[in-house]
Amino acid sequence: MTQTPDRRTFAIISHPDAGKTTLTEKLLLFGGAIHLAGEVKARGQARRARSDWMKIEQQRGISVTSSVMTFERDGITFNLLDTPGHEDFSEDTYRTLTAVDSAVMVIDVAKGIESQTRKLFEVCRLRSVPIITFVNKCDREGREVFETLDEIADLLALDVTPMTWPVGMGGQFEGIYDLRTNKLLLPEGPSREFQGKVVQTSGLDDPQLDAIISPENLAKLREDAELALAGYAEFDGEAYRNGDLTPVFFGSALKEFGVDALIGALAEHAPPPHALPAEPEPVEPTRNEVTGFVFKVQANMDPNHRDRIAFMRLCSGTFKRGMKLTPTGHGKPIAIHSPIMFFAQQRELADEAFPGDIIGIPNHGTLRVGDTLSEKADVRFTGLPNFAPEILRRVALKDPTKTKQLRKALDDMAEEGVTQVFYPEIGSNWIIGVVGQLQLDVLLSRLEAEYKVAAALEPAPFDTARWISGDAAALKNFTEINRGAMAKDRDGNPVFLAKSAWEVGYVAERYPDVKFAATRER
Ligand code: GDP
Repeated sequence: MTQTPDRRTFAIISHPDAGKTTLTEKLLLFGGAIHLAGEVKARGQARRARSDWMKIEQQRGISVTSSVMTFERDGITFNLLDTPGHEDFSEDTYRTLTAVDSAVMVIDVAKGIESQTRKLFEVCRLRSVPIITFVNKCDREGREVFETLDEIADLLALDVTPMTWPVGMGGQFEGIYDLRTNKLLLPEGPSREFQGKVVQTSGLDDPQLDAIISPENLAKLREDAELALAGYAEFDGEAYRNGDLTPVFFGSALKEFGVDALIGALAEHAPPPHALPAEPEPVEPTRNEVTGFVFKVQANMDPNHRDRIAFMRLCSGTFKRGMKLTPTGHGKPIAIHSPIMFFAQQRELADEAFPGDIIGIPNHGTLRVGDTLSEKADVRFTGLPNFAPEILRRVALKDPTKTKQLRKALDDMAEEGVTQVFYPEIGSNWIIGVVGQLQLDVLLSRLEAEYKVAAALEPAPFDTARWISGDAAALKNFTEINRGAMAKDRDGNPVFLAKSAWEVGYVAERYPDVKFAATRER
């Protein structure tokens, strides 16, 4: 059995604009990772911090630093995996969530739970990923705290435990009160903008508070906090780690309020690497053999190089530079001589990695998303889902002599999780599927730039897709009757292309022996 160093591998889920980037920067700043670049000394220089990261990225020539960011605090290493949010919402985002042990959900205090947060949350729920909630932008006008808490509880069907409470909001914002430690987090410095001072109180009745907080805010804080303590579940670490309860922290990433408390909560409560679902049995992080799986493949930024970086989450064992690992089910062992490692203070010198760490493996397309890598090739991690595409398009080739290149390109990009590809049983019009609009633009521009294939995307007569399964007779019957709507995915699995979500419901009712799945496990 191996003794593994303490790790917290997590992702931030949020809707665009809720403050993920700002929070990431502050986490790195507070966690000391920015010292990597050796430049940022003072707090609040977020813009500098960001450009420092970009500089590292340029020096390394590939865009990998934004995929994994690492910081250390009190002997714990935090690996923050980026979930590309914004419009380029893709399966990549979803799959990254299979490589984390927990997540931080950032919501805007004025907007509450928005659509993308909700989608990402559902993915976390599929795998019971524990979630800490950070309600951001309390320095601005927002909704009532109770309204926010109740929305989280109702929409996500989770127990909520407020851990901190904002003292006023917007123009009246005075700080954050920690309901568990009775600490009051206050602004400091000449601008009184950023969190600095922490006052230890004996509780909400502490007379110190009267001298610090305005009477209106204090009366409201006392009343609200009392109601909250009586009305919401007490924090229960086990319920949180099972994905049944979310502790809720209030703060302002921009003004640095509550960021420290958030790191503290991750350190104290978020789970370290645990056993992951695999065949023939779950893999414990304490297993001696090195095992891991690829959750993301990224093409090199330089279009002249076909190199790809496969991002592997290490699940067990101690990885050492130069080690040979075998992808389960296909291929020979590969010696990993130049892994990109993210966790060490001096990145370049890192040559060991531990469970929970991410390793970037340069390769020429041999490694695919979902691959298991291990020393003995005797395990296979399960549970990396493909998602039903929400947009389907027919690919029209402008030059018919380029069919081969097109097929290669579509397969490659399906491998990377940029798009999904479906090959209909009848006809020669290949269909691609994506979960976000921007993926279509990425597809077209990469077809031209990398594969020299000019193509156009046309409306497809289908709206969504479902992977089908069931016993052989039922499948045969279904397939024969619906041949015009049948296709195979890149791995040869049967897929039903539906004209609408309504049609999915209709056929599901008519063919009770066939299972229609909106996700497919690899
Ligand atoms: P992302 O799209 O989720 O990555 O969001 P960003 O971090 O880019 O933030 C979106 C906008 O909200 C930016 O203009 C930020 O400066 C602003 N913002 C982020 N956090 C806060 C906050 O705590 N308070 C205020 N007032 N603005 C914030």
